[in-house]
Amino acid sequence: MQTDYERLANLNKDYLWNPFTQMKDYITSDPLIIERGEGIKLYDMQGRAYYDGFSSVWLNVHGHNVPELNQAITDQLSQVAHSTLLGMANRPAIELAEKLAKITPRGLNKVFYSDSGATGVEIAIKMAFQYWQNKGVKSKTTFITMNQAYHGDTIGAVSVGAIPLYHDIFRPMLFPSHVIPYPYAYRHEGGEKSALDATLTALRDLLETRAEEIAALIVEPIVQGASGIVTMPLNCLREMAAICRKYDVLLIADEVATGFGRTGAMFACELEDVSPDLMVIGKGLTGGYLPVAATLATDEIYHAFYADYEEQKTFFHGHSFTGNPLGCAVALASLKLMEERNMIEGVEAKAAFVEQKLSNLKDRPHVGDIRQKGLMVGIELVRNKDSREPYEWIERVGVRATQRARELGMLTRPLGNVMVFIPPLASTETELDAMTDILAKSIIDVTEGG
Ligand code: PMP
Repeated sequence: MQTDYERLANLNKDYLWNPFTQMKDYITSDPLIIERGEGIKLYDMQGRAYYDGFSSVWLNVHGHNVPELNQAITDQLSQVAHSTLLGMANRPAIELAEKLAKITPRGLNKVFYSDSGATGVEIAIKMAFQYWQNKGVKSKTTFITMNQAYHGDTIGAVSVGAIPLYHDIFRPMLFPSHVIPYPYAYRHEGGEKSALDATLTALRDLLETRAEEIAALIVEPIVQGASGIVTMPLNCLREMAAICRKYDVLLIADEVATGFGRTGAMFACELEDVSPDLMVIGKGLTGGYLPVAATLATDEIYHAFYADYEEQKTFFHGHSFTGNPLGCAVALASLKLMEERNMIEGVEAKAAFVEQKLSNLKDRPHVGDIRQKGLMVGIELVRNKDSREPYEWIERVGVRATQRARELGMLTRPLGNVMVFIPPLASTETELDAMTDILAKSIIDVTEGG
Protein backbone atom coordinates (compact mmCIF):
# COMPACT_ATOMS: atom_id res chain seq x y z
CA MET A 1 0.00 0.00 0.00
CA GLN A 2 1.42 3.36 -0.92
CA THR A 3 1.17 6.22 1.49
CA ASP A 4 -0.77 9.36 0.63
CA TYR A 5 2.57 11.14 0.16
CA GLU A 6 3.80 8.47 -2.27
CA ARG A 7 0.55 8.68 -4.21
CA LEU A 8 0.80 12.47 -4.62
CA ALA A 9 4.54 12.39 -5.32
CA ASN A 10 3.92 9.90 -8.13
CA LEU A 11 1.04 11.93 -9.52
CA ASN A 12 3.24 15.04 -9.39
CA LYS A 13 5.87 13.22 -11.44
CA ASP A 14 3.31 11.82 -13.86
CA TYR A 15 1.20 14.91 -14.47
CA LEU A 16 2.77 18.16 -13.26
CA TRP A 17 5.33 20.18 -15.20
CA ASN A 18 6.90 22.48 -12.61
CA PRO A 19 8.09 25.97 -13.64
CA PHE A 20 11.80 26.82 -13.72
CA THR A 21 12.48 23.15 -12.96
CA GLN A 22 14.49 20.55 -14.83
CA MET A 23 11.98 17.72 -14.62
CA LYS A 24 14.64 15.06 -15.24
CA ASP A 25 16.20 16.06 -11.90
CA TYR A 26 12.87 16.53 -10.23
CA ILE A 27 11.39 13.13 -10.98
CA THR A 28 14.37 11.39 -9.44
CA SER A 29 13.92 13.36 -6.19
CA ASP A 30 11.39 13.15 -3.40
CA PRO A 31 9.19 16.16 -4.15
CA LEU A 32 8.52 18.59 -1.36
CA ILE A 33 4.76 18.77 -1.08
CA ILE A 34 3.54 21.63 1.07
CA GLU A 35 0.38 20.86 2.94
CA ARG A 36 -0.21 23.92 5.08
CA GLY A 37 1.25 27.16 6.35
CA GLU A 38 1.09 28.90 9.68
CA GLY A 39 2.83 32.16 10.47
CA ILE A 40 6.08 32.25 8.55
CA LYS A 41 6.39 28.47 8.48
CA LEU A 42 5.31 25.98 5.86
CA TYR A 43 4.64 22.32 6.67
CA ASP A 44 5.13 19.42 4.29
CA MET A 45 3.03 16.26 4.07
CA GLN A 46 5.26 14.51 6.60
CA GLY A 47 4.63 17.33 9.07
CA ARG A 48 8.16 18.78 8.80
CA ALA A 49 8.28 22.54 9.37
CA TYR A 50 10.29 24.98 7.26
CA TYR A 51 10.81 28.70 7.61
CA ASP A 52 9.62 30.42 4.46
CA GLY A 53 12.98 32.07 3.87
CA PHE A 54 12.09 33.39 0.41
CA SER A 55 8.48 34.39 1.11
CA SER A 56 7.22 31.73 -1.32
CA VAL A 57 9.07 33.41 -4.20
CA TRP A 58 9.27 36.91 -2.73
CA LEU A 59 5.66 37.68 -2.14
CA ASN A 60 4.51 36.76 1.34
CA VAL A 61 4.06 39.73 3.66
CA HIS A 62 2.13 38.70 6.80
CA GLY A 63 2.87 34.97 6.92
CA HIS A 64 0.50 32.16 6.04
CA ASN A 65 -3.02 31.37 7.21
CA VAL A 66 -3.57 34.92 8.49
CA PRO A 67 -7.05 35.19 10.07
CA GLU A 68 -7.71 38.75 8.83
CA LEU A 69 -6.81 37.85 5.25
CA ASN A 70 -8.77 34.59 5.34
CA GLN A 71 -11.77 36.52 6.63
CA ALA A 72 -11.57 39.12 3.87
CA ILE A 73 -11.72 36.37 1.26
CA THR A 74 -14.56 34.56 3.04
CA ASP A 75 -16.58 37.78 3.31
CA GLN A 76 -16.11 38.54 -0.36
CA LEU A 77 -16.87 34.93 -1.35
CA SER A 78 -20.34 35.25 0.09
CA GLN A 79 -20.88 38.29 -2.18
CA VAL A 80 -19.35 37.37 -5.53
CA ALA A 81 -16.18 35.47 -6.44
CA HIS A 82 -15.68 36.97 -9.84
CA SER A 83 -17.21 39.31 -12.35
CA THR A 84 -15.46 41.33 -15.03
CA LEU A 85 -14.08 44.86 -15.33
CA LEU A 86 -14.82 44.96 -19.04
CA GLY A 87 -17.29 47.83 -19.14
CA MET A 88 -18.36 47.42 -15.47
CA ALA A 89 -16.77 47.24 -12.03
CA ASN A 90 -16.96 45.79 -8.51
CA ARG A 91 -16.60 47.24 -5.03
CA PRO A 92 -13.17 45.83 -3.97
CA ALA A 93 -11.59 46.68 -7.35
CA ILE A 94 -12.75 50.29 -7.07
CA GLU A 95 -11.74 50.72 -3.45
CA LEU A 96 -8.36 49.13 -4.03
CA ALA A 97 -7.71 51.38 -7.04
CA GLU A 98 -8.32 54.46 -4.89
CA LYS A 99 -6.02 53.09 -2.19
CA LEU A 100 -3.24 52.29 -4.66
CA ALA A 101 -3.45 55.72 -6.23
CA LYS A 102 -2.97 57.21 -2.75
CA ILE A 103 -0.01 55.11 -1.63
CA THR A 104 2.01 55.04 -4.86
CA PRO A 105 4.40 57.83 -5.94
CA ARG A 106 2.78 61.09 -6.91
CA GLY A 107 1.08 61.36 -10.27
CA LEU A 108 0.17 57.66 -10.57
CA ASN A 109 -3.59 57.97 -10.36
CA LYS A 110 -4.95 55.37 -12.76
CA VAL A 111 -4.93 51.66 -11.99
CA PHE A 112 -5.12 48.92 -14.63
CA TYR A 113 -5.38 45.44 -13.11
CA SER A 114 -4.00 42.14 -14.31
CA ASP A 115 -3.07 38.86 -12.70
CA SER A 116 0.72 38.46 -12.61
CA GLY A 117 3.82 40.59 -12.64
CA ALA A 118 4.50 39.56 -16.24
CA THR A 119 1.06 40.63 -17.46
CA GLY A 120 1.48 43.90 -15.56
CA VAL A 121 4.72 44.43 -17.48
CA GLU A 122 3.06 43.58 -20.80
CA ILE A 123 0.45 46.21 -20.05
CA ALA A 124 3.05 48.83 -19.17
CA ILE A 125 4.94 48.14 -22.40
CA LYS A 126 1.81 48.26 -24.54
CA MET A 127 0.57 51.40 -22.80
CA ALA A 128 3.89 53.16 -23.30
CA PHE A 129 3.91 52.16 -26.96
CA GLN A 130 0.32 53.20 -27.62
CA TYR A 131 0.72 56.41 -25.62
CA TRP A 132 3.16 57.71 -28.20
CA GLN A 133 1.09 56.37 -31.11
CA ASN A 134 -2.02 58.08 -29.73
CA LYS A 135 -0.07 61.31 -29.38
CA GLY A 136 1.01 61.07 -33.01
CA VAL A 137 4.66 60.40 -32.20
CA LYS A 138 4.82 57.33 -34.40
CA SER A 139 8.59 56.82 -34.29
CA LYS A 140 8.80 55.97 -30.59
CA THR A 141 8.46 52.19 -30.80
CA THR A 142 11.40 50.61 -28.94
CA PHE A 143 12.44 50.12 -25.32
CA ILE A 144 15.54 50.32 -23.21
CA THR A 145 16.25 47.73 -20.57
CA MET A 146 19.21 46.96 -18.33
CA ASN A 147 21.71 44.16 -18.58
CA GLN A 148 20.55 41.08 -16.63
CA ALA A 149 17.04 42.50 -16.22
CA TYR A 150 14.12 40.22 -15.46
CA HIS A 151 10.53 41.33 -15.95
CA GLY A 152 8.61 38.05 -16.23
CA ASP A 153 8.16 35.25 -18.71
CA THR A 154 5.60 36.35 -21.28
CA ILE A 155 6.87 37.39 -24.71
CA GLY A 156 6.87 41.16 -24.18
CA ALA A 157 8.42 40.81 -20.74
CA VAL A 158 11.06 38.46 -22.14
CA SER A 159 11.76 40.97 -24.93
CA VAL A 160 12.81 43.47 -22.27
CA GLY A 161 14.58 40.71 -20.33
CA ALA A 162 18.34 40.35 -20.46
CA ILE A 163 19.33 37.19 -18.61
CA PRO A 164 20.97 35.00 -21.26
CA LEU A 165 20.17 31.69 -19.55
CA TYR A 166 16.45 32.40 -19.51
CA HIS A 167 15.99 34.63 -22.52
CA ASP A 168 18.49 33.92 -25.29
CA ILE A 169 16.75 30.87 -26.70
CA PHE A 170 13.66 32.95 -27.43
CA ARG A 171 15.56 35.84 -29.04
CA PRO A 172 14.44 35.02 -32.64
CA MET A 173 10.79 35.49 -31.67
CA LEU A 174 11.23 38.66 -29.58
CA PHE A 175 11.17 42.36 -30.38
CA PRO A 176 14.64 43.87 -29.99
CA SER A 177 15.38 46.19 -27.07
CA HIS A 178 18.34 48.43 -26.29
CA VAL A 179 20.34 47.12 -23.34
CA ILE A 180 22.38 49.44 -21.14
CA PRO A 181 24.78 48.18 -18.45
CA TYR A 182 23.44 47.59 -14.96
CA PRO A 183 25.75 49.02 -12.27
CA TYR A 184 26.89 45.71 -10.78
CA ALA A 185 29.60 47.16 -8.57
CA TYR A 186 31.06 43.87 -7.32
CA ARG A 187 31.77 42.71 -10.85
CA HIS A 188 32.70 46.06 -12.35
CA GLU A 189 36.35 46.90 -12.68
CA GLY A 190 36.72 50.26 -11.01
CA GLY A 191 33.98 49.63 -8.46
CA GLU A 192 30.73 51.36 -7.66
CA LYS A 193 31.40 54.89 -8.89
CA SER A 194 32.76 53.68 -12.20
CA ALA A 195 29.82 51.25 -12.61
CA LEU A 196 27.38 54.08 -12.00
CA ASP A 197 29.15 56.33 -14.51
CA ALA A 198 29.08 53.58 -17.12
CA THR A 199 25.33 53.16 -16.74
CA LEU A 200 24.50 56.85 -16.85
CA THR A 201 26.86 57.51 -19.75
CA ALA A 202 25.37 54.66 -21.77
CA LEU A 203 21.86 55.94 -21.16
CA ARG A 204 22.79 59.52 -22.05
CA ASP A 205 24.67 58.48 -25.19
CA LEU A 206 21.82 56.33 -26.39
CA LEU A 207 19.21 59.00 -25.84
CA GLU A 208 21.39 61.71 -27.32
CA THR A 209 21.20 59.96 -30.67
CA ARG A 210 18.08 57.80 -30.62
CA ALA A 211 15.51 59.27 -28.21
CA GLU A 212 13.00 59.77 -31.01
CA GLU A 213 12.86 55.97 -31.51
CA ILE A 214 12.49 55.09 -27.84
CA ALA A 215 9.18 54.83 -26.03
CA ALA A 216 10.39 53.99 -22.52
CA LEU A 217 13.08 52.71 -20.21
CA ILE A 218 12.02 49.83 -17.98
CA VAL A 219 13.88 49.30 -14.74
CA GLU A 220 13.77 47.28 -11.52
CA PRO A 221 14.17 50.19 -9.09
CA ILE A 222 17.00 50.11 -6.52
CA VAL A 223 17.31 46.30 -6.53
CA GLN A 224 17.66 44.13 -9.60
CA GLY A 225 16.13 40.92 -8.32
CA ALA A 226 16.47 37.82 -10.48
CA SER A 227 20.00 38.73 -11.61
CA GLY A 228 21.16 38.07 -8.04
CA ILE A 229 19.70 40.76 -5.74
CA VAL A 230 22.02 43.44 -7.09
CA THR A 231 21.59 46.84 -5.45
CA MET A 232 22.04 50.10 -7.35
CA PRO A 233 24.55 52.71 -6.24
CA LEU A 234 23.01 55.71 -4.50
CA ASN A 235 21.30 58.19 -6.85
CA CYS A 236 21.42 55.87 -9.85
CA LEU A 237 17.65 55.64 -10.15
CA ARG A 238 17.20 59.36 -9.58
CA GLU A 239 19.74 60.23 -12.27
CA MET A 240 18.25 57.77 -14.73
CA ALA A 241 14.80 59.24 -14.17
CA ALA A 242 16.14 62.75 -14.79
CA ILE A 243 17.85 61.70 -18.02
CA CYS A 244 14.65 60.03 -19.29
CA ARG A 245 12.66 63.16 -18.51
CA LYS A 246 15.16 65.35 -20.30
CA TYR A 247 14.91 63.29 -23.49
CA ASP A 248 11.15 62.71 -23.36
CA VAL A 249 11.36 58.98 -22.75
CA LEU A 250 8.90 57.34 -20.35
CA LEU A 251 10.11 55.62 -17.21
CA ILE A 252 8.51 52.28 -16.30
CA ALA A 253 9.30 51.15 -12.76
CA ASP A 254 8.87 47.42 -12.29
CA GLU A 255 8.15 47.23 -8.55
CA VAL A 256 6.83 43.66 -8.74
CA ALA A 257 9.61 42.39 -6.47
CA THR A 258 10.50 45.58 -4.58
CA GLY A 259 7.00 46.86 -3.80
CA PHE A 260 5.02 46.68 -0.57
CA GLY A 261 7.73 47.39 1.96
CA ARG A 262 10.33 44.93 0.78
CA THR A 263 13.14 47.50 0.54
CA GLY A 264 12.14 49.50 3.61
CA ALA A 265 9.80 51.96 1.86
CA MET A 266 6.35 51.14 0.52
CA PHE A 267 7.89 51.34 -2.97
CA ALA A 268 11.59 51.40 -3.83
CA CYS A 269 11.09 54.49 -6.04
CA GLU A 270 10.39 56.46 -2.87
CA LEU A 271 13.93 55.85 -1.65
CA GLU A 272 15.13 58.29 -4.31
CA ASP A 273 11.98 60.34 -4.59
CA VAL A 274 11.33 59.13 -8.13
CA SER A 275 7.88 59.30 -9.70
CA PRO A 276 7.78 57.03 -12.74
CA ASP A 277 5.29 57.41 -15.60
CA LEU A 278 4.17 53.80 -15.28
CA MET A 279 4.61 51.45 -12.38
CA VAL A 280 4.01 47.70 -12.20
CA ILE A 281 3.10 45.98 -8.95
CA GLY A 282 2.22 42.39 -8.09
CA LYS A 283 3.55 39.76 -5.68
CA GLY A 284 3.07 41.43 -2.25
CA LEU A 285 -0.01 43.37 -3.36
CA THR A 286 -2.34 40.71 -1.93
CA GLY A 287 0.02 39.91 0.94
CA GLY A 288 1.04 37.03 -1.32
CA TYR A 289 -2.39 35.41 -1.16
CA LEU A 290 -3.93 35.65 -4.62
CA PRO A 291 -2.78 36.48 -8.15
CA VAL A 292 -3.46 40.19 -8.58
CA ALA A 293 -1.13 42.66 -10.26
CA ALA A 294 -1.61 46.21 -11.44
CA THR A 295 -0.06 48.75 -13.77
CA LEU A 296 -0.38 52.34 -12.59
CA ALA A 297 -0.30 55.22 -15.04
CA THR A 298 -0.12 58.98 -14.72
CA ASP A 299 -3.04 61.21 -15.70
CA GLU A 300 -0.93 62.36 -18.64
CA ILE A 301 -0.74 58.82 -20.02
CA TYR A 302 -4.39 58.10 -19.27
CA HIS A 303 -5.52 61.22 -21.11
CA ALA A 304 -3.71 60.20 -24.29
CA PHE A 305 -6.19 57.28 -24.45
CA TYR A 306 -9.24 59.35 -23.48
CA ALA A 307 -11.00 60.33 -26.71
CA ASP A 308 -14.09 59.92 -28.83
CA TYR A 309 -14.54 56.29 -29.82
CA GLU A 310 -14.03 57.00 -33.53
CA GLU A 311 -10.54 58.30 -32.82
CA GLN A 312 -9.51 54.70 -32.04
CA LYS A 313 -7.44 55.52 -28.98
CA THR A 314 -8.99 52.84 -26.75
CA PHE A 315 -6.57 50.53 -24.93
CA PHE A 316 -7.70 47.16 -26.28
CA HIS A 317 -6.26 44.98 -23.55
CA GLY A 318 -7.79 42.98 -20.68
CA HIS A 319 -7.72 39.55 -19.07
CA SER A 320 -10.64 37.39 -18.00
CA PHE A 321 -9.72 37.73 -14.33
CA THR A 322 -8.79 41.42 -14.39
CA GLY A 323 -9.93 43.07 -11.15
CA ASN A 324 -10.92 39.81 -9.45
CA PRO A 325 -12.99 40.78 -6.37
CA LEU A 326 -11.52 38.11 -4.08
CA GLY A 327 -8.00 39.23 -4.92
CA CYS A 328 -8.81 42.91 -4.56
CA ALA A 329 -10.58 42.28 -1.23
CA VAL A 330 -7.58 40.47 0.20
CA ALA A 331 -5.25 43.18 -1.12
CA LEU A 332 -7.28 45.80 0.75
CA ALA A 333 -7.14 43.69 3.92
CA SER A 334 -3.40 43.22 3.52
CA LEU A 335 -2.77 46.95 3.12
CA LYS A 336 -4.92 47.63 6.19
CA LEU A 337 -2.90 45.16 8.24
CA MET A 338 0.36 46.70 7.01
CA GLU A 339 -0.84 50.06 8.28
CA GLU A 340 -2.24 48.81 11.59
CA ARG A 341 0.96 46.92 12.32
CA ASN A 342 3.31 49.70 11.12
CA MET A 343 5.03 47.11 8.99
CA ILE A 344 6.98 49.47 6.75
CA GLU A 345 8.38 51.33 9.74
CA GLY A 346 9.37 47.96 11.21
CA VAL A 347 11.47 46.91 8.25
CA GLU A 348 14.40 49.17 9.12
CA ALA A 349 15.10 47.58 12.50
CA LYS A 350 14.61 44.07 11.12
CA ALA A 351 16.93 44.82 8.21
CA ALA A 352 19.57 46.19 10.59
CA PHE A 353 19.32 43.04 12.69
CA VAL A 354 19.75 40.82 9.61
CA GLU A 355 22.68 42.90 8.40
CA GLN A 356 24.42 42.63 11.71
CA LYS A 357 23.83 38.87 11.90
CA LEU A 358 25.13 38.30 8.37
CA SER A 359 28.20 40.46 8.93
CA ASN A 360 29.73 37.36 10.56
CA LEU A 361 29.83 35.81 7.11
CA LYS A 362 32.00 38.56 5.62
CA ASP A 363 35.26 36.86 6.52
CA ARG A 364 34.32 33.41 5.26
CA PRO A 365 36.56 32.29 2.39
CA HIS A 366 33.81 31.81 -0.19
CA VAL A 367 31.48 34.69 0.61
CA GLY A 368 32.25 37.26 -2.07
CA ASP A 369 29.57 39.89 -1.66
CA ILE A 370 26.65 40.40 0.71
CA ARG A 371 24.01 42.68 -0.79
CA GLN A 372 21.00 43.90 1.07
CA LYS A 373 18.22 46.45 0.80
CA GLY A 374 15.57 46.16 3.48
CA LEU A 375 14.54 42.53 3.74
CA MET A 376 15.97 41.57 0.37
CA VAL A 377 19.31 39.83 0.67
CA GLY A 378 21.64 38.17 -1.83
CA ILE A 379 24.90 36.51 -0.85
CA GLU A 380 27.22 35.87 -3.77
CA LEU A 381 29.39 32.80 -3.31
CA VAL A 382 32.74 32.65 -5.09
CA ARG A 383 35.39 30.02 -5.58
CA ASN A 384 38.19 32.50 -4.97
CA LYS A 385 37.54 35.49 -2.79
CA ASP A 386 40.64 37.44 -3.87
CA SER A 387 40.19 37.07 -7.60
CA ARG A 388 36.37 36.96 -7.31
CA GLU A 389 36.45 33.92 -9.53
CA PRO A 390 32.92 32.53 -9.66
CA TYR A 391 31.98 28.92 -9.15
CA GLU A 392 31.20 27.10 -12.37
CA TRP A 393 27.49 26.99 -13.13
CA ILE A 394 27.65 23.19 -13.22
CA GLU A 395 28.89 23.01 -9.62
CA ARG A 396 25.44 24.23 -8.53
CA VAL A 397 26.78 25.70 -5.33
CA GLY A 398 23.64 27.78 -4.80
CA VAL A 399 21.41 24.76 -5.30
CA ARG A 400 23.47 22.73 -2.85
CA ALA A 401 23.43 25.46 -0.21
CA THR A 402 19.68 25.70 -0.66
CA GLN A 403 19.30 21.96 -0.21
CA ARG A 404 21.36 22.18 2.97
CA ALA A 405 19.14 25.03 4.22
CA ARG A 406 16.13 22.84 3.59
CA GLU A 407 17.63 20.03 5.67
CA LEU A 408 18.17 22.59 8.41
CA GLY A 409 14.56 23.77 8.22
CA MET A 410 14.39 26.75 5.86
CA LEU A 411 13.20 27.08 2.28
CA THR A 412 14.75 29.40 -0.26
CA ARG A 413 15.73 29.33 -3.92
CA PRO A 414 19.13 30.39 -5.23
CA LEU A 415 19.93 32.61 -8.20
CA GLY A 416 22.96 30.87 -9.69
CA ASN A 417 25.74 31.30 -7.13
CA VAL A 418 23.74 33.79 -5.10
CA MET A 419 21.95 32.62 -1.96
CA VAL A 420 18.69 34.48 -1.56
CA PHE A 421 17.13 35.48 1.73
CA ILE A 422 13.80 37.28 1.46
CA PRO A 423 11.82 36.56 4.63
CA PRO A 424 8.19 37.60 5.11
CA LEU A 425 7.96 41.17 6.39
CA ALA A 426 6.11 39.88 9.45
CA SER A 427 9.11 37.79 10.62
CA THR A 428 10.01 38.51 14.23
CA GLU A 429 13.55 39.11 15.44
CA THR A 430 13.59 35.63 16.98
CA GLU A 431 12.58 34.13 13.66
CA LEU A 432 15.11 36.23 11.74
CA ASP A 433 17.74 35.07 14.20
CA ALA A 434 16.93 31.41 13.55
CA MET A 435 16.71 31.90 9.77
CA THR A 436 20.00 33.78 9.46
CA ASP A 437 21.67 31.01 11.51
CA ILE A 438 20.40 28.43 9.02
CA LEU A 439 21.45 30.60 6.10
CA ALA A 440 24.99 31.00 7.44
CA LYS A 441 25.36 27.34 8.36
CA SER A 442 24.14 26.14 4.98
CA ILE A 443 26.64 28.41 3.20
CA ILE A 444 29.53 27.36 5.43
CA ASP A 445 28.69 23.66 5.25
CA VAL A 446 28.53 23.65 1.47
CA THR A 447 31.45 25.95 0.64
CA GLU A 448 33.82 24.87 3.43
CA GLY A 449 32.62 21.38 4.33
CA GLY A 450 34.66 18.39 3.24
N1 PMP B 1 9.19 41.69 -12.53
C1 PMP B 1 10.06 41.42 -11.55
C2 PMP B 1 11.04 42.47 -11.13
C3 PMP B 1 10.04 40.18 -10.93
O1 PMP B 1 10.93 39.91 -9.96
C4 PMP B 1 9.09 39.23 -11.34
C5 PMP B 1 8.97 37.85 -10.70
N2 PMP B 1 9.99 37.42 -9.91
C6 PMP B 1 8.22 39.57 -12.37
C7 PMP B 1 8.29 40.81 -12.94
C8 PMP B 1 7.20 38.59 -12.89
O2 PMP B 1 6.16 38.43 -11.99
P1 PMP B 1 5.22 37.14 -12.11
O3 PMP B 1 6.06 35.96 -11.71
O4 PMP B 1 4.12 37.41 -11.13
O5 PMP B 1 4.75 37.07 -13.51
